[in-house]
Amino acid sequence: MILKKIIIGNWKMNPLTMKEAEKIFSGISKNLKNKKTEVAICPPFLYLEKLGKISKKVSLGAQNICLENGVGSYTGEVSAEMLINIKAKYVILGHSERRAGVLAPLSGESNQDVNKKIKMALDSSLVPVFCFGENERDENHEYLIFIKKQIEECLEKISKENISRMIIAYEPIWAIGKNAKREATPAEFREMSIYVKKILSDKFGIKINMPRIIYGGSVHPENVQGFLAEGADGFLVGRDSLDVKKFLSIVSSAETNF
Ligand code: PEP
Repeated sequence: MILKKIIIGNWKMNPLTMKEAEKIFSGISKNLKNKKTEVAICPPFLYLEKLGKISKKVSLGAQNICLENGVGSYTGEVSAEMLINIKAKYVILGHSERRAGVLAPLSGESNQDVNKKIKMALDSSLVPVFCFGENERDENHEYLIFIKKQIEECLEKISKENISRMIIAYEPIWAIGKNAKREATPAEFREMSIYVKKILSDKFGIKINMPRIIYGGSVHPENVQGFLAEGADGFLVGRDSLDVKKFLSIVSSAETNF
């Protein structure tokens, strides 16, 4: 089965008001001409429900879920089931900003936390967008050991059928955000995609029905063609997903790349 390419916008903690969120979302949905590509936006929780009423052409996703499901005494948390109830389809899990950095000065999400959240999402029928990636690259390729451990631990005891339903996003930390030195090269993405497929085959027994493997980290309209040419199944877009023109241009490149 050929899966559609997918372009996912990660709005992070943006924009500041519901009005702005509606403006960007409407700008994207009204001008979308996608047939072969799926488009999803992951806004902050509080905008999700209202944006879902604007258009069904754009799927919705969240940026996190609670480690526990349903309801309960978990101050400040939102469960997978709550998201399903407001018709969200995707959830970004394992993003580097939640694993370390400003959001997690002491200890951020571990591989085990991410594993638990992925299972929770799958049990609730949310599609996890699982982010993985190294902090830096070393000449001896030790980062590949780090990547293998990250993938194996985050996907531990998840069935191959469920992994096939997921979206796997390669997001090298050094390529993310406005302080990034550079994006990955298409060749670096291709190598990583082959490496991930090997891990999924060796460790999880996935021979056919590979999940979609997408690229994230300083994705811009000018650099998407290179990744598509090297087999990217789509993109996880940060900054440019808040810019209607740039985001639509990324979608239209994916549409024409067949
Ligand atoms: C991200 O953090 O998921 C991301 C891809 O950000 P940016 O596109 O802004 O580098």
